[in-house]
Amino acid sequence: MSPAFMTLSPLDQMKETINETPIHIREILRNVVTTSGQTCVSLFYSALFQHERAAIFLEKETVEVKMRPQLLAWIQSLFFTDADHVEELSELQCRIGTIHAQLEIPTDIVVYGLYIIKQALIDGIKASTPDKDDTIAAIIYLSTMMDFAFKFMIKAYDINFRKKVESDEAFRLVSLGHNISYEKETQISTFSGWSTQAFYCLCKDHPEDLPTIAESEFGLWLTHKGMSLFKGTHEANQIQNKVRELDTKIAAIRKTGLIPPEFPTELHKAITSLTFLIGRVFRHLEEVENGRDPLTKVFNRRFLDVVIQNEITFALTHEKPFSLVILDIDHFKKINDQFGHLVGDEVLCFVAEIIAANVRANDFIFRYGGEEFLIVLTEIPLEDGLICAERIRTALAEHPLTLSSSDQVQVTLSGGITTFAGETNARLLIHQADEALYKAKSNGRNCIVATHHTPEKV
Ligand code: GH3
Ligand code: MG
Ligand code: MG
Repeated sequence: MSPAFMTLSPLDQMKETINETPIHIREILRNVVTTSGQTCVSLFYSALFQHERAAIFLEKETVEVKMRPQLLAWIQSLFFTDADHVEELSELQCRIGTIHAQLEIPTDIVVYGLYIIKQALIDGIKASTPDKDDTIAAIIYLSTMMDFAFKFMIKAYDINFRKKVESDEAFRLVSLGHNISYEKETQISTFSGWSTQAFYCLCKDHPEDLPTIAESEFGLWLTHKGMSLFKGTHEANQIQNKVRELDTKIAAIRKTGLIPPEFPTELHKAITSLTFLIGRVFRHLEEVENGRDPLTKVFNRRFLDVVIQNEITFALTHEKPFSLVILDIDHFKKINDQFGHLVGDEVLCFVAEIIAANVRANDFIFRYGGEEFLIVLTEIPLEDGLICAERIRTALAEHPLTLSSSDQVQVTLSGGITTFAGETNARLLIHQADEALYKAKSNGRNCIVATHHTPEKV
């Protein structure tokens, strides 16, 4: 390791590690991977299948068909890649990390998996080299390369976590009842009030009265509320810098009593640019706020993960149950085909209304797919959730939709319901409800099927 090694980027560190490791040591690793790669993969999966929390993420068939060959290819790539191709190697680790992060596989399980692979390869190294120094060098090389892989993989967790926090934040905005459109109108008008006053002072040649933005109503709102509302947006810093720049000039004019000849033009430009930026940042917030499906007015999927995750946390901390239902309109394609797409849309709104009329204000309704709705029934165990889902199903089956042409459309739906049983993965719950829905469809439709056990593992 060169003295400057620690100052290098992880990518260059990996490059140097490969370059600085003698060829015959790298060759040992390649031979071990070639001869013991399969054994290593088998040990990895048998250890993970025995690991209670890890096994949740594994399905036997997918492991056999897809995951085993992919894991072997990953191990090979780590030790067969040369220094000129480390970028591709790091990208591969990031991609793997992204998949793990999206599946919300806990990092301790990833570390455990890497540990199993490392141990299996160490055993392979020991069995293949009689020379002690070579064995040590090969083990160091193996450990360093695995550490790099982990470093790149873990980056994806950070990105995933930040995305989640951002949508948490967005959800907070909505649930706190911020009315972004109202705020936008008010603040654009207070900013315009400040601009008018500034130009009035210029016209009257009263430089000493020129107001800074910071002391205006808009400026005070920006400091105390706006900046936290705009936080994380691209425009926030631009607005802050422009305001600071303009206020410095205004402060100088007030002090000297002299208006530089170019100032009116600069002021005009700054106001135009700030108006544009304020408009744009508010439009961004409106999009964030708009977590609703425009057709049915129920939530779209934007906050689904946040809501389920909140309910999981609530259920764990308060030892309360909650249930999750997925409802899918039966033969919806036929309705579209027979009556047209617009009637199809009307049916979707009708179903959303029936659902809303049969759940409580504390439940969450999402449009989950084209003709699928997902309901989070808070503080409700499976049996009561089933009663609620049945109530929705029968309400719909008993009330055909009457069209303006006085034609009647008979609509039914099928549903799957599951309940929280301690698992901390939102996707797993959705998967269980989806499986139950699938059974309801195969049972002949217009029925609800309940499940609350985890899917088959081994
Ligand atoms: P199944 O009983 O098995 O659920 O059959 P299905 O016909 O309901 O299911 P399928 O998935 O075959 O068809 C769903 C249809 O929903 C296809 C799609 O065109 C329609 N769809 C999706 N979104 C909308 C929408 O917003 N409006 C309308 N009118 N139709 C939609
Ligand atoms: Mg469907
Ligand atoms: Mg359907």
